[in-house]
Amino acid sequence: MRIAIFSDVHANLEALQAVLDDFERTQPDTVVCLGDIVGYGANPSQCLNLVREHADIIVLGNHDEAAFDFSKLDEYTEVAQTSARWTAHALSEEEKRYLKSLPFKMTSDDLLFVHSTPRNPQDWEYILSAFEARLYESAFAERVCFIGHSHVPAVYHLSPNASHYSPNHRFIINVGSVGQPRDGNWRAAYGLLDTVAGSFEINRVEYDVRQASEKIIDAGLPRILGDRLFRGR
Ligand code: ZN
Repeated sequence: MRIAIFSDVHANLEALQAVLDDFERTQPDTVVCLGDIVGYGANPSQCLNLVREHADIIVLGNHDEAAFDFSKLDEYTEVAQTSARWTAHALSEEEKRYLKSLPFKMTSDDLLFVHSTPRNPQDWEYILSAFEARLYESAFAERVCFIGHSHVPAVYHLSPNASHYSPNHRFIINVGSVGQPRDGNWRAAYGLLDTVAGSFEINRVEYDVRQASEKIIDAGLPRILGDRLFRGR
């Protein structure tokens, strides 16, 4: 079975469409979205509709939450606050009710899917190193926990001596970001797990970054959100 796992679309329709088009090539049997479908980008409704259509499993991200609940907004940067208010206005009431209905965690066999961390995901903390990943080793019973949130792809081995992906070992894997990568690579990222071959890979997909950026600026969103797409950071 091939499972495509993507995260942090951030209302970037061009990037999301490019990833969905790439599924024609990689042919996943199951599609998982790890949240932050909206926020920052100019096409929240369109992205939410596409994700609902194509993903079998969807969990909530902090920017999805910020679109229907402003109570934690003071913890966000000014740019993120502006974007959250713009997004809340752009989404329909039904779309916000749908986001509100999303779970923080989902499990499928020996896999756990969550936006931020396997313990207390609603606190929206970050896992940014192998050391931090190992602090969560006892926080979940499944073999692999897939995360997003930092927008930086990474494979963290919880088995101390492992140096590569193996179907026998435990991992926390960050699949990176579709719509706002922050690892210095502007291309949209998504993960592909093949449970038969016992392999995992991060795919990078080129998309029309100029169009996505211009839409952000035309929408009156902070210019930095459009500019940073070219840099991928
Ligand atoms: Zn995000």
